[in-house]
Amino acid sequence: MSSITVGVVTGANKGIGLAIVRKLALQYEGTPGGNPFLIYLTSRDERRGEEALKGITSDAEVKKAKVLVADGGTVDIKHHLLDIADETSIKDFTDFLKKEYSQGINFVINNAGIAMNGFDPDTNVVDNTLKTNYYGTLHASLNFLPLIKPHGRLVNVASMVGGLSKYSSSIQSRFLSAASIADVNSIVEDFRSSVLAGTEQKDGWPRSAYAVSKAGVIGLTRAIAAQEEWKARGILINSCCPGWVRTDMTRGGGVKTPDQGAETPVLLAVGDIGESTGLFWQNERPIRW
Ligand code: NDP
Repeated sequence: MSSITVGVVTGANKGIGLAIVRKLALQYEGTPGGNPFLIYLTSRDERRGEEALKGITSDAEVKKAKVLVADGGTVDIKHHLLDIADETSIKDFTDFLKKEYSQGINFVINNAGIAMNGFDPDTNVVDNTLKTNYYGTLHASLNFLPLIKPHGRLVNVASMVGGLSKYSSSIQSRFLSAASIADVNSIVEDFRSSVLAGTEQKDGWPRSAYAVSKAGVIGLTRAIAAQEEWKARGILINSCCPGWVRTDMTRGGGVKTPDQGAETPVLLAVGDIGESTGLFWQNERPIRW
């Protein structure tokens, strides 16, 4: 009996996440008797997620792709609620997946993220940005990983903005030598403390919670990929920048379409990347952090 291939995309009701789901569906080539492929389009808002699902399943190209694979493995897309800033929501979804797919799932793309305006010394922007982009991605990764089958994939969507050039050399060294999640957490928390004290510039940080949250995502991805448990199971864990993409987040700025932005995350989830793990990618290649 063929087993089902299951993939999950977070923050997939619009923008790059939605384009990732579409690309996954379009590139799937069913073969007679092959594995059915199921993609979970997840969103933090039920209505926005259901509307996105309705839109994508009535997309002419996706419908055509579904017909083409009808004689072989099938491709299907379902919606599920998932707010990565809410640990109960993560637990509800991962409990559901555990129950439905006792053999495990194949990949997760942690795409969900926010970019708030301005830089707020009251730490409102810092706390909310870290809560979603850094801690949300961390908690989602740690809850999804035990469900991922051997040789499966975890992809964390970070950003070039998370590059290290804007940090003091001592903070750069801390990021580069962080060997555990606790190490990365402590760097991110030190940023928060500096903001609270109003000393972030003097202490060598960029004045951008978004940038630090994404540097944290790159750091946590490296730290998780180095853990023996996942290495032993051959799970490939990478982070990437999708490029500068025209979405609501960039308010129409950007040079890539969402479909182009989806390319690297999709490659890392289902493409041929050899045994690469713990790397940061852009334009479908590993790059220096
Ligand atoms: P959008 O703002 O268009 O989409 C972001 C998605 O994330 C939305 O679906 C949003 O849901 C969802 N989201 C936000 N918070 C949560 C949460 N707590 N739980 C679940 N979902 C959530 O942004 P993009 O598509 O541009 O960005 C996608 C990813 O790519 C982000 O991680 C972003 O940081 C990253 N990125 C984007 C770049 C760009 O140029 N666009 C460049 C580099 C990185 P809702 O609709 O409910 O708000």
